[in-house]
Amino acid sequence: ASGMGTQGGATLEELAAWQRALRAQFPIITSHPDLAYLDSAATAQKPQAVLDAVQTYLTATNANAGRGTYTWANRTTDLVEQTRDRVRLFLHDPDPEQSAVHFTSGATEGLRTIARDWLPAFLADGDEIIVPAGDHQANVAPWLEAQQLLAGQGVHVHVRPMPYQQSSGDYDHTALADLAGPRTRFVALTHVHHVYGGNMNVHRIRQVVGPEAVLCLDAAQSIGHLPVSVAEQGELDVDFVVFSGHKAMALPGTGAVWARQARGPAFTPGGWSGTPNTVGIASLTAALDWLDTAGIDRIERWTVALAARLTDGLRHLDAYEILGCQTSLAAGSPVQQRHGIVTFRHRAIDSGDLGFILFSHGFMVRSDHHCQGSAGEKTGSVRVSLHVYNTVEEIDRLLSVLASLA
Ligand code: PLP
Repeated sequence: ASGMGTQGGATLEELAAWQRALRAQFPIITSHPDLAYLDSAATAQKPQAVLDAVQTYLTATNANAGRGTYTWANRTTDLVEQTRDRVRLFLHDPDPEQSAVHFTSGATEGLRTIARDWLPAFLADGDEIIVPAGDHQANVAPWLEAQQLLAGQGVHVHVRPMPYQQSSGDYDHTALADLAGPRTRFVALTHVHHVYGGNMNVHRIRQVVGPEAVLCLDAAQSIGHLPVSVAEQGELDVDFVVFSGHKAMALPGTGAVWARQARGPAFTPGGWSGTPNTVGIASLTAALDWLDTAGIDRIERWTVALAARLTDGLRHLDAYEILGCQTSLAAGSPVQQRHGIVTFRHRAIDSGDLGFILFSHGFMVRSDHHCQGSAGEKTGSVRVSLHVYNTVEEIDRLLSVLASLA
């Protein structure tokens, strides 16, 4: 995290030509020049390469996977296995032989699958789990349900809610140090917060809870937005990475769980039972190829710089309150970068109404409570969430509409 007022400006100029070429690859974006899609945290738009991969799969290969002896069936089986490897590669998995990749319909189903199929076998009476109560419901409810299920079997697991710290834009590591103890066996956490946009310091959490606890990372808002590496030299000594394929430019109804398999019982849900979402899996491979080719580092610099431009503009408008880290942008002060997510509210206009007004100007934003858990915001807000196809011009136009309402 660093100051990025002018740095963001330089980045935007440097990357302008690169970004224009990428934006041109999104048919839904280029065919709607009067609309600005600012809801990528809900789901991302798809580049032509992903649409082509879907078309190719359905016109050249479509069959069921894991059964059949003819070419199309074998190719589909290979596609599924190759996509597991594609996910491993995307995450810089250092030991592909020792990890599992399971396909889901999205991050919600991924987290739920771990909570239902794996966690109960891992926990014993008196164990503690840490759950971030202000995160997305998808990363809160499943763990509480697992606790209830176990209680029904006479196994009592304590849930410790992990607090979020507005001033740092991260979890409260001091509070976490008090919560964590020798019985802490499992910690659920989010990589990039879906309301505040901060990149959580996962490395620090590993240090605080120690080497034995299982860490489960909800990477729904980081995959496709910033480098995510589970390699030994990488940042993330986590045991599970869960993400939404559809937020990473694959088709709706896609997602995956990556499991390291080193701590606790093996994660082996499903196997080859049932028909997998083969079209979605084809789209996921194409999406991860596209993102790596586009360059995750540059995507990160672009969306962080756009979010900084929006945040800087909003700071000058007294009518708005920006949610999340409020640290000053003054030189030298630590600022939590916003990874393409800026959430705010107008002090006088209801957020639902503001969303409606913004859409009348062509801006598609999210305006509600953003599925936040029980420790989340009590009042609604407007969330602007960006991806590589968004432009400086869209941000400036949005700021001028917001200014006219101030
Ligand atoms: N976790 C986070 C942080 C999210 O932002 C979301 C989606 O909004 C989810 C989980 C749920 O993802 P999905 O829609 O793929 O189930």
